Amino acid sequence: WKGAPPHLAFLIQASRAYGDRLFTIHEDERVTFEANFRAVAHLATKLRAMGVGKGDRVALAMRNTPEWPVIFFAAVSIGAILVPLNAWWTGGELDYGLRDSGSKILFVDGERLARLQKRLGGLPDLQRTIVSRWEGALPEGVDRLEELIGAPNDWAGLPDIALPAEPTLAPEDDATIFYTSGTTGSPKGALGTHRNLCTNIMSGGYAAARSFLRRGEMPPEPQPRTGLMVIPLFHVTACSASLMGTVAAGNTVVFMRKWDPVQAMEIIQREKVNLTGGVPTIAWQLLEHPDRHKYDLSSLEAIAYGGAPSAPELVKRIYTEFGALPGNGWGMTETMATVTSHSSEDYLNRPTSAGPPVPVADLKIMDADGAREMPSGEVGELWAKGPMIVKGYWNKPEATAECFRDGWVRTGDLAKLDEEGFLYIVDRAKDMIIRGGENIYSSEVEDVLYAHPAVTDCALIGIPHKTLGEEPAAVVHLAPGMYATEAELQAWVRERLAIFKTPVAIRFVSETLPRNANGKILKKDLKALFVEEAAA
Ligand code: ATP
Ligand code: MG
Repeated sequence: WKGAPPHLAFLIQASRAYGDRLFTIHEDERVTFEANFRAVAHLATKLRAMGVGKGDRVALAMRNTPEWPVIFFAAVSIGAILVPLNAWWTGGELDYGLRDSGSKILFVDGERLARLQKRLGGLPDLQRTIVSRWEGALPEGVDRLEELIGAPNDWAGLPDIALPAEPTLAPEDDATIFYTSGTTGSPKGALGTHRNLCTNIMSGGYAAARSFLRRGEMPPEPQPRTGLMVIPLFHVTACSASLMGTVAAGNTVVFMRKWDPVQAMEIIQREKVNLTGGVPTIAWQLLEHPDRHKYDLSSLEAIAYGGAPSAPELVKRIYTEFGALPGNGWGMTETMATVTSHSSEDYLNRPTSAGPPVPVADLKIMDADGAREMPSGEVGELWAKGPMIVKGYWNKPEATAECFRDGWVRTGDLAKLDEEGFLYIVDRAKDMIIRGGENIYSSEVEDVLYAHPAVTDCALIGIPHKTLGEEPAAVVHLAPGMYATEAELQAWVRERLAIFKTPVAIRFVSETLPRNANGKILKKDLKALFVEEAAA
């Protein structure tokens, strides 16, 4: 750590080494590494002039557009703490994020400013709001980003100035507050350092190389690649893993305004995209799309995902039907993304695993009290340790004390490790169903349902039972043109798993299941559906 943290060192050197190479593409906007760097340097200079300094919070509420990485790098380079807010949030939720983080500056796009406009005056810490992509007259007290640095296609014409990076930046300085997805409760801000942010850059390449190294071969020299980013940058997977990796490797990233499988296939064909993924649903929707064969998707080399359970079915199909390598990784907001990483042959051979830990991480499986470590092969709570684990939760000392101990984070996930250290996630502790004392892990039953040819989306949830406590029930979405009955699917599960794991009821829904921005099924909401139905 000398001079600049690795993510900034890569940003600076990439702009020199790959000046003309495209860094971001968004619709008809094309930004080279050099143009991106110029915009970062200019915005960082302007932020300094506004009095933003070390430790100040700068909020960012935008969809994925070229401005996002520019604002991100400008803020963290001058030592500010960047606070990405969930672009799916309502005005009230955005208000919560701004208050909770005590943000001084807000960068926002037009769509979200419209949601927030009425609340801006009531935010005690907010000093300035800067909007991009806003049509018409500006609301009182709001500035336009385009007036500060121009629009993305103008950035190449900005004068070449130095990045006014904060000279005292240290690895342990705070860099980001990312909010958890809010799948099991309300979102918590995870306070990450510059070191946390860099861990993915440092350990990312190894996962891809591992299969070669095991065979005693040197991995091929990396070539610049184009990735299609379909997951939002306000989650760690997209930002701390994909975006930082893109800068470090000199790759190109294509942003999509909003996920849509047809548009994604058009982009893959047009831009010759090599890498995509993010969450398992994306891969399913591409695979099962009826018009898939109309597009040339042959440039795809890898489809990697994480963040949510995925069916082993998917692994084989990505390989055989797209000719691409499947990849998986486990991580959480509290770990700034990747803790395990799974790809290539390793993944094809162990399709139910989320992979081994990256070399700098440690994993252990503990009993429910956190007192005893479980032997390999047995299920318990997953704990993780390493340079990617954040300091704790912003403003939440009790939750921090409960989840973070001696460098370890208690994950709330139930999992096991095999003899070779490969991780298998079986459920979230909060979602595990206990039927009369027998544990039922959702992923086991969901994987069996997914293996049925007619099922494309499903979730296992616990519904209340007077004497047993809970019973398993399933919500299923069938593939277009396919048919299956409740009894048929129950028989399918019964033939493959112990009888107590068979869903006592299966509901069919016409849409894919409701998910949050990070691809996670909202089981809380599904449960409410069943309970209401039972009460009616
Ligand atoms: P909240 O903590 O607010 O309830 P969340 O846990 O969904 O939300 P994230 O930090 O985005 O918020 O997600 C982390 C969780 O995602 C993990 O705890 C785990 O349950 C799940 N997850 C991540 N990667 C994988 C994976 N590869 N396989 C299965 N589950 C995964
Ligand atoms: Mg969580």
